[in-house]
Amino acid sequence: MKSVTEIFGSMVFDDAAMEARLPKETYKILQKTIKDGKHLEISVANVVANAMKDWAIEKGATHYTHWFQPMTGVTAEKHDSFISPKNGKVIMEFSGKELIKGEPDASSFPSGGLRATFEARGYTAWDATSYAFIKDGVLCIPTVFCSYGGEALDQKTALLRSMEAINRQALRVLKLFGNEDVKSVKTTVGPEQEYFLIDEKAYNKRKDLIYTGRTLFGARAPKGQELDDHYFGAIKPRVAEYMKELNEELWKVGVLAKTEHNEVAPAQHEMAPIFTTTNIAADHNQLTMEIMQKVAKRHGMVCLLHEKPFAGVNGSGKHNNWSISTDTGVNLLEPGETPYENAQFLLFLCAVIKAVDEYQELLRISVASAGNDHRLGANEAPPAIVSMFLGSDLSEILDAIENDEHFDPKQKELMRIGVHTLPKFPKDTTDRNRTSPFAFTGNKFEFRMLGSASSISCANTVLNTSVAEELKQFADELEGSKDFEADLHDLIKRTIKEHKRIIFNGDGYDDSWIAEAEKRGLKNLKTTPDALAHMLDVKNVKLFTDHKVLTVPEITARHEVRLENYCKVINIEALTMLDMVRKDILPAMSDFSCELADGAAKKAAFMPEADCTYEKETVKSVSALIGAAFRAVRKLEEDLLSSKSIEDFTELADFYKTKILDDMRVLRISVDEIETIAPKEKWPYPSYGELLFSVR
Ligand code: ADP
Ligand code: MG
Repeated sequence: MKSVTEIFGSMVFDDAAMEARLPKETYKILQKTIKDGKHLEISVANVVANAMKDWAIEKGATHYTHWFQPMTGVTAEKHDSFISPKNGKVIMEFSGKELIKGEPDASSFPSGGLRATFEARGYTAWDATSYAFIKDGVLCIPTVFCSYGGEALDQKTALLRSMEAINRQALRVLKLFGNEDVKSVKTTVGPEQEYFLIDEKAYNKRKDLIYTGRTLFGARAPKGQELDDHYFGAIKPRVAEYMKELNEELWKVGVLAKTEHNEVAPAQHEMAPIFTTTNIAADHNQLTMEIMQKVAKRHGMVCLLHEKPFAGVNGSGKHNNWSISTDTGVNLLEPGETPYENAQFLLFLCAVIKAVDEYQELLRISVASAGNDHRLGANEAPPAIVSMFLGSDLSEILDAIENDEHFDPKQKELMRIGVHTLPKFPKDTTDRNRTSPFAFTGNKFEFRMLGSASSISCANTVLNTSVAEELKQFADELEGSKDFEADLHDLIKRTIKEHKRIIFNGDGYDDSWIAEAEKRGLKNLKTTPDALAHMLDVKNVKLFTDHKVLTVPEITARHEVRLENYCKVINIEALTMLDMVRKDILPAMSDFSCELADGAAKKAAFMPEADCTYEKETVKSVSALIGAAFRAVRKLEEDLLSSKSIEDFTELADFYKTKILDDMRVLRISVDEIETIAPKEKWPYPSYGELLFSVR
């Protein structure tokens, strides 16, 4: 048995491995290139590649891949072996060129029209800030993925650019406070990942889970989550075995898996890692999702990452804990020890408040997907309205600043920036509100709207870039100041006044909040098409282009990819429903009612006075419901047919949102109702009870 410290990072070509295996000079140059984000010289790359290959072969690897994150939401890899022919034999080779750049034929990845098929080549380039690692005998090199013309075709490129943007602007602000020693600023993320585990045998019998990741039909089981007995409950042995292996696999590839527990819904669990630099956290989260699914298979289970696998119980999300820190080890969202540090904290806090208010649509867009639409605003996840929770302590301080008041009655002076020390906010006084989409939790923000299945890159790209923009505006205003403290005070006061509408400490699940939010002018973008309608707003395009995070063609392409994905997902769901109903459910139920009718007829012939109420009533109900289901099938088929003539993606998405989803809802109602009447052995699929309670 190896110890955890031995296991951890054993499959990562990390700093220790580099230092041990690279010549001193090469190691130094590589470190510097990583730190400055510069390109690696080919001569250096050759040495690094060779050492990396030797290390990988020792660990049993035979292949390498440029591991990247196209706009499909999952990762992509194409394996190449290290072999190279020599004198009728082979030797194992890996060059610097192969390490730093790849040229996959990438014409089948979504590009939103960015790349025509005649120039199908894309290229991948090593993100040297994220370590290479070995997965299933393949050396994986984390890379960005671009078109031949240099346009980003992936999630990572924009994320890295957004990290540069916030670095640039935060450094300007820090200089104003005399922090000359800070060389770089990075955002950090700790994403909490929710998931379901169900038995593989039951899964294999559900076409809906196989094709769409969620159940499209299913009558509620007698028991759901109403007893709150699963949340933080004792972990069942089979799940505990799974979690043990999951942790080990994650530790091997350097993921800081830390917390594990049962979640609210039956069969639902969560894993939270310790936070790390944002691009690495994004890579690790992709790896986590992949490994979660792989390990589940080994235990005869399936890990469901869909946002809403089951109706009637909670779906899954991803809490994105986010902060900003300096290379000198200071968390900029941590209230400091001195009045001066507090002034700096308040300015960064204001930047986040202003960013969330001004770019609320973009934040909503960043988490929008067909799957997540089932959660947001459904009283199990934050509402679709973006707002911020600061907690009463911090809110009182902001009020005092805004209104020139005392924030502590014992204090004689009015609340002035740079004069008062703020109290430290213990986590338990700041983190009480679980209904808020964006909560301050003592020294970080927790963005809680993310769906469980999606990459965290998009949300963090928006967060980084929007906060960068506000920091830029602040720096522009303060850099020429003659009276820094007074101007800073005014700026903070003004920002609070102008953007406090985004702050809401109340219950986000309460209906009154919807009306209140509307009064405040906050957007309630309920669905993905509603949200995407704002993606190309002038303000949003300007944000991305000003900070060189995305170009106009890149944003337009992303908009198209997102709309297209929404339509395709719902289309697959609709077709799956039709398949299940026409091929399995209707024939089974028609047989069932005929058998009942036959049986009743026989019974009556044999004994005219026999009570046939059950048979008669059931045949009547089932026949009526079959009829209703069949009409709903027809309607869905007709609407799917008419959707074919819609060419414009915006219009099509709208059609899916209104017509198709509604048809699917109607169809489900009658089918679920029949399931409650049908005998167990006649129903073609495992029930909700079997799916949710079968893993012990
Ligand atoms: P919970 O939200 O479940 O109560 P915690 O608040 O303790 O749990 O932590 C949640 C996540 O926040 C963890 O992944 C943790 O590593 C992360 N986190 C803590 N500090 C920071 C930070 N400065 N930046 C980003 N994430 C952080
Ligand atoms: Mg949390």
